Amino acid sequence: MKFAFDNTYARLPERFYARVSPATVREPRVVKVNRALAELLGLDAAELASAEGAQVLSGNALPEGAEPIALAYAGHQFGSFVGQLGDGRAILLGEVVGKDGGRRDIQLKGAGRTPFSRGGDGRAALGPVLREYVVSEAMAALGVPTTRTLAAVTTGEPVYREEVLPGAVLTRVAASHIRVGTFQFFAARGDREALGTLASYALSRHYPGAVGSGNDALALLDRVIEAQAALVARWLGVGFIHGVMNTDNTSISGETIDYGPCAFLDEYDPEKKFSSIDRGGRYAFGNQPRIAQWNMARLAEALLPLLSDDEEEAVRVATERVQRFTGLFVAAHERVLRDKLGLARAEDADLKLAADLLDLLASNGVDYTVFFRRLCAAAADPAADAQVASLFADPGAFRGWAEGWRQRLAREDVTPEARASAMRGVNPAFIPRNHRIEELIQAAVARDDFGPFETLVRALERPYEEQPELAHLSEPPAMEERVKHTFCGT
Ligand code: AMP
Ligand code: MG
Repeated sequence: MKFAFDNTYARLPERFYARVSPATVREPRVVKVNRALAELLGLDAAELASAEGAQVLSGNALPEGAEPIALAYAGHQFGSFVGQLGDGRAILLGEVVGKDGGRRDIQLKGAGRTPFSRGGDGRAALGPVLREYVVSEAMAALGVPTTRTLAAVTTGEPVYREEVLPGAVLTRVAASHIRVGTFQFFAARGDREALGTLASYALSRHYPGAVGSGNDALALLDRVIEAQAALVARWLGVGFIHGVMNTDNTSISGETIDYGPCAFLDEYDPEKKFSSIDRGGRYAFGNQPRIAQWNMARLAEALLPLLSDDEEEAVRVATERVQRFTGLFVAAHERVLRDKLGLARAEDADLKLAADLLDLLASNGVDYTVFFRRLCAAAADPAADAQVASLFADPGAFRGWAEGWRQRLAREDVTPEARASAMRGVNPAFIPRNHRIEELIQAAVARDDFGPFETLVRALERPYEEQPELAHLSEPPAMEERVKHTFCGT
C-alpha cells in the first residue's frame, strides 16, 4: 500500500510529540472508504477497501513511510486550563501532499493508548466514528472548512462505555492537527524556543503568503483570527453547533475539528445547545462567535513572549489584534446572511433586515434550513410565499417581513431566476439532521446495517441539489424523533 508520505511534523523537536505504535485489533473490517478523498490524496480506493487496506486503516499494519506519533497539546476545557492533554487515542501516521498541492495529515482516531491517554482506553466506538464521517463530509460538501474522513473500519473488538459497543477506527484527514492548545502547551512550560519554532512552522504550513513580515507569531495570530472569524460565520450560516469549542478543539488552520457532541439546528434558536456536558450553554449556537474570540485571546496570550520583548507592548498588540475579531466576524456574518437572503450588494440596513428575520424565526419556532430553502422559491416567485409563511406559528409575521425584503430586492438589478439560483447555492436542502444520524447509528450498531449510513452520506454529497428520491432526509424531525442531547465520543 503506497502513501506518498512527506512528514514534516515528525522533524520538529522530540518534545512536540511521543513516538507510538498503533495497537493491533482482532478483526478489522472496512465499513467505508471515501473514494473522492482517496483520489485527491493519490490513494487507491479499491486497495484501501481490501483486506490489506483494513490492516492499514485499523493500525494493524503500518504503511511504508509512516512515522506514527501522538501530538502534545494542552487546552482550556469549558474555561478551565488543563496543562497536558495530547492525542490520547489518535495517532498521526504522517503527511501526504494531495493532487491539489495541499499538505494533509493522515491520522488514525481510536488507534489505541498513547502516553497522553491518562484514563481512557485509546479506543473509539462505532457510533461516534459514523457521526464524524457523516458530519465532517457534509461540512466539506457544504463548503465549510473542515477536517475530513478518509475511512471508517470496525475492529471486531468491543469497547466499554456505559454499554458494550462495537469498536471502530476513523481515518481523519486534516490540514494539520495544530491547535490553539498546542501553543498553550509550550507557553505553560515557559518554552519560548518551542513556541517560536511552532509559530514559524504553522505560519509557513498554513499561511505561506504571510511569511516574511519580520514577526511570524504576530502574522500567525492575525491569520488565525481571520480564519476563525470566517469559520464561525460559516457555521452560523448552516446552523452548525460545534458543541465543545475548547481551545484544544480550535485548529490553527481554520478548519472545523472534533465532531464529538456537534449538532445542527432544526428550528432556529440562538440559545440552542445539544451537548450533554455543556450544562451552562457556554457553547450554545449564538455564543459561538464570542467563544471563538475568547479562544483567540488564549492564543494571543500563549504567543505573548513572541509578540514583543517589552511585556506591556506585547499585551497592547495582543489586545488590539484580538479586538479585531469582532469586526471581522460581523463583516463575515453579514456576507453570509446577505447571500442567504439573495442580496448581491451591501446596504446599511441589511443587517437589521436579517436580524429582524432571525428574531421571527426564533419566536415562531421555524426550521432554519427549510425556511431558507423555501425562501429561494419565494425569491423566484411570490406565489411561493404561502409555503414559507406556513412554517411560522404566526404566518402574518413572515408576510410583514417579506414586504421589506421585496422592497430591498427591487433595488437590485438581478432577475428573479438568477437570484433564486444563487440562493440555492448557499441555502442547502440537506444537512445532517440529528435524528437521521441517531437512526443510522442505531441501524449500524444494533443490526450491522449500514444502509441508512450509506444513504445519508450520498444525500449529503450534494447538499445544495434537490434530490426528490431522498427528500425524506431533508425534513425536520417529527416530535417523537427529536434528539434532545448529543454525547462526546469518549
Ligand atoms: P476528546 O473528547 O476526544 O477531544 O478527548 C479529550 C481528551 O481525552 C484528549 O486528550 C483525548 O485524547 C483524550 N481521550 C478521549 N477519549 C479517550 C479514550 N477513549 N482513550 C484515551 N484518551 C482519550
Ligand atoms: Mg478534542
